[in-house]
Amino acid sequence: MNGSRKQLYVKSFGCQMNVYDSRRMADTLAPEGYSETLSPEDADLVILNTCHIRDKAAEKVYSELGRVRRLKQAAAARGRRVVVAVAGCVAQAEGEEIIRRQPAVDVVVGPQSYHRLPKLLEEAARDGKAIDTEFPVDDKFDHLAAPSAAAIRARGASAFVTVQEGCDKFCTFCVVPYTRGTEISRPVRKIVDEVEHLAAAGVREISLIGQNVNAYHGEALDRRPWSLAQLLRRIAEIGGIDRLRYTTSHPCDMSEDLIAAHGDLPELMPQLHLPVQSGSDRVLAAMNRRHSRADYLDIVRRLRAVRPDLALTSDFIVGFPGETASDFDATLDLIEQVGFCGAFSFKYSPRPGTPGAEMADQIDEDIKSERLQRLQAAIERHQAAFNRSCLHRRVDVLFERPGRHPGQLVGRSPYLQPVQATAPATLIGEIAAVTIVEIGSNSLFGTLASQTPACAQARDFLATGA
Ligand code: SAM
Ligand code: SF4
Repeated sequence: MNGSRKQLYVKSFGCQMNVYDSRRMADTLAPEGYSETLSPEDADLVILNTCHIRDKAAEKVYSELGRVRRLKQAAAARGRRVVVAVAGCVAQAEGEEIIRRQPAVDVVVGPQSYHRLPKLLEEAARDGKAIDTEFPVDDKFDHLAAPSAAAIRARGASAFVTVQEGCDKFCTFCVVPYTRGTEISRPVRKIVDEVEHLAAAGVREISLIGQNVNAYHGEALDRRPWSLAQLLRRIAEIGGIDRLRYTTSHPCDMSEDLIAAHGDLPELMPQLHLPVQSGSDRVLAAMNRRHSRADYLDIVRRLRAVRPDLALTSDFIVGFPGETASDFDATLDLIEQVGFCGAFSFKYSPRPGTPGAEMADQIDEDIKSERLQRLQAAIERHQAAFNRSCLHRRVDVLFERPGRHPGQLVGRSPYLQPVQATAPATLIGEIAAVTIVEIGSNSLFGTLASQTPACAQARDFLATGA
């Protein structure tokens, strides 16, 4: 370890991949003497792990950097040096430009170079600034330090594991293929080792993540590429791992064996995030999504045939160039047909360097806002109906942390809904059956099933036939 302990503050913007990457950066800096702090004022090193997916996401980074600059100046006035690093996709896309716009930044590091952070910090201390936005040939995962058992426990019983990075799909709206590079899959052995390490420290739920996770084709011990379904089946064998999820998937990579896994792998949770973006074939083609509305509906039908209680969530973009009122109606109609239990929805944001940004017929912001509102209202209606269908049902909850009120715990249902219940703290990190007794606006409320009054149990029995 180098010298005395220093404080590290990491702020993640954007997707779960960034949350995972932020944790791996903190793990890599721990042997260098850094402990994580939740308050930027105490930090010796501030890392902003950034997102470039939409214009607003990138602009947020610059306003956050303004605040960090003031912190850095205040610390300097007291004789303390604060180092500022920008990581992630804005770092990759803008490189040196970040330092030109905000000279308080000392280090710029792209998503494939996190393992070089200790070296970059040394370089910045010596030369003033350090930039690394290469796509190196060596695998960063071979160099990133594993988290300690204490760090794993502090992060809770549910963990992300990156299995795949980058994307070769080139949807015409998206910067990911440019910022995260070409698609690569981690070898099976390394993923299994990482999950075993997490399971040994008490992790019960694993979410396999990747920009295009179901395109996974990592090398197995027999040197053949394994599909995501094969990987999921192997991970399900690891003792202690009771729940599996994966995100984010592309409809074109929903292979037969992956659909089958939803039917016969009990650890695979009955919730799937499957972005569709639009319900109009014309818009899907302009987006280069490589599938039609009918293809998507067929995948949903096949998934529900093997797993009737599967709940689907999705991503939508409204106001893609050329989207007409009837294209948008087709999206609303798809929502009615599928009945998503939740979704992320966005106004189209032209990203420099992507084909969409150059297209004619860009849509007015007012129209985008109006469509977004209507789409979100439709999704909320379906989400509320789905939540209501859980009333009086018994669901397994993985308890994550204490709730807001004394004696209460918060956890997640198999469908990823937050559930609050009165339960002993010893259940944190455990899965327990809960009967849902009330539906709130953001969470469900329940009682431990063993404490459920007999009348509610009878009602439960009648409702589910179980
Ligand atoms: N790989 C995933 C897929 O194929 O759907 C999604 C990855 S992307 C990080 C997450 C979501 O951001 C996308 O599904 C899309 O809805 C949204 N998004 C990406 N680029 C966008 C843009 N230029 N404007 C608005 N939303 C965008
Ligand atoms: Fe972006 Fe996903 Fe399309 Fe890849 S598949 S370009 S990550 S939206």
